[in-house]
Amino acid sequence: MTNFDYDLFVIGGGSGGVRAARVAAGEGAKVALAEEYRYGGTCVIRGCVPKKLMVFASEYRESFADARNYGWDVQDGAFDWHPFRKRMHAELDRLEGIYRNLLKNSGVTSFDARATLKDRNTVELSTGETVTAKTILLAMGGRPVKPDLPNAHLGITSNEIFLLDELPKSILIVGGGYIACEFAGILNGLGVEVTQYYRGAQILRGFDDEARGMVAEQMREKGINLRLGINIHQMSLAADHDPDMTGPVGDDGTTPLSEAGKGGPIYVKSTQGDEAEFDQVMFATGRVPNADNMGLEEIGIEIGRRGEIVVDEYSKTTVDNIYAIGDVTNRVQLTPVAIREGMAFVETVFKDNPTPVDHDLIPSAIFTQPEMGTVGLSEEEARDQEPIDVYCTSFRPMQTAFADRPDRVLMKLVVSQKTRVVLGCHIVAPHAGEMIQLAGIAIKMGATKEQFDQTCAVHPTMSEELVTMKTPMRSA
Ligand code: NDP
Repeated sequence: MTNFDYDLFVIGGGSGGVRAARVAAGEGAKVALAEEYRYGGTCVIRGCVPKKLMVFASEYRESFADARNYGWDVQDGAFDWHPFRKRMHAELDRLEGIYRNLLKNSGVTSFDARATLKDRNTVELSTGETVTAKTILLAMGGRPVKPDLPNAHLGITSNEIFLLDELPKSILIVGGGYIACEFAGILNGLGVEVTQYYRGAQILRGFDDEARGMVAEQMREKGINLRLGINIHQMSLAADHDPDMTGPVGDDGTTPLSEAGKGGPIYVKSTQGDEAEFDQVMFATGRVPNADNMGLEEIGIEIGRRGEIVVDEYSKTTVDNIYAIGDVTNRVQLTPVAIREGMAFVETVFKDNPTPVDHDLIPSAIFTQPEMGTVGLSEEEARDQEPIDVYCTSFRPMQTAFADRPDRVLMKLVVSQKTRVVLGCHIVAPHAGEMIQLAGIAIKMGATKEQFDQTCAVHPTMSEELVTMKTPMRSA
């Protein structure tokens, strides 16, 4: 029998990797973990957590006027990025400390180092050390990508947005997915002039049409200059842009970076022909798995078309003792999913209980303003599958209507005509994320529309509409 240094070596200290390491150690395994950047991964360090803190900060803008309409004698305040940024990073430091301690207290050995694979049992660390393990778990996450466009390096991504020294006065956000739409709302709320370019016909592709249409409409009402069917055609530093030329001015077709222009405004010409300058350009054009330059293919691990590690339903790669979880597998890029994949991995490998990962009916929230919560099939997906009834209502909620805000909410259930099972639920409303978590339980249990209706309404709330919609709005 071969002796290894560890039973399990985890590469990546994000939500999935840390959870798997801790739980495996709790089962008595000897576990080590390597993280090259900061513990907590995308979610804690440059994703969900700081993003949500910024959402909270940005939502105060509308609350001053609301408060006045509720009788409070308050003046509009100005947002100061510096003290907020300091508090936000102090919070991230605190959370990172918790993650480190959780590992330590579970008996996991941590390496602050980049890890690569030498062979199927050997990990090489950037510190020069080499360790061996019986099982290896790859949990390296993903990273944002910029489009292949001359001068794209002038733009930032969601990685840098939390680290800005100053908030820009104006920003162009490129993309129409979760990150683009969330940051359009955040920065608009913080007082930045926001333009968003999305190349398709409507933002949030893949979500329910009616719900995303409502989000887009209210993003515009709140002041975001949301442009559809548009992309960047050219970009360069404004200081380097020569208006007499039709394109960038460098020898190689790219714009030379003048010293003076560093950090200066960025000139953008769109595919629709208009020209503008922005203090910042942020690309939210998708994320790619962190699976490159790690020696994976060399030892027989299959990498998919989008750079993802290919795994089976137990998160096993094409090499028997090596597993992969989370964004690096490009299944569903959500923190709770990575955590569940990590737990299922431990059940399978360390508890002798083969557990496939259930990726069905995952509720999720998009922290746009207004917020959107969704679980199950969109109306469009469902009607392609079977005959459906759509129950839907849209109204001005009491709290903001009283404050004279035009905000509207949407409550929508997509129901199978045959079985009456609720196939999808879509909510656009303040705290839609909180609501969809609870609706998600019923829908995961296979509740029918009639079972929703048997549940007594909670009054007066917005979500009571989910159990009081009597007549279908339409059938398809
Ligand atoms: P998405 O894949 O959701 O969106 C990428 C966007 O960029 C799409 O609108 C896409 O357009 C557009 N795009 C891609 N390439 C280009 C290009 N070359 N030029 C212009 N536009 C382009 O990625 P995100 O980065 O927004 O988010 C990544 C993942 O992170 C999400 O899928 C989600 O799983 C997760 N996430 C979850 C959050 C949450 O739960 N609240 C919050 C943030 C992220 P098109 O639609 O045409 O392809």
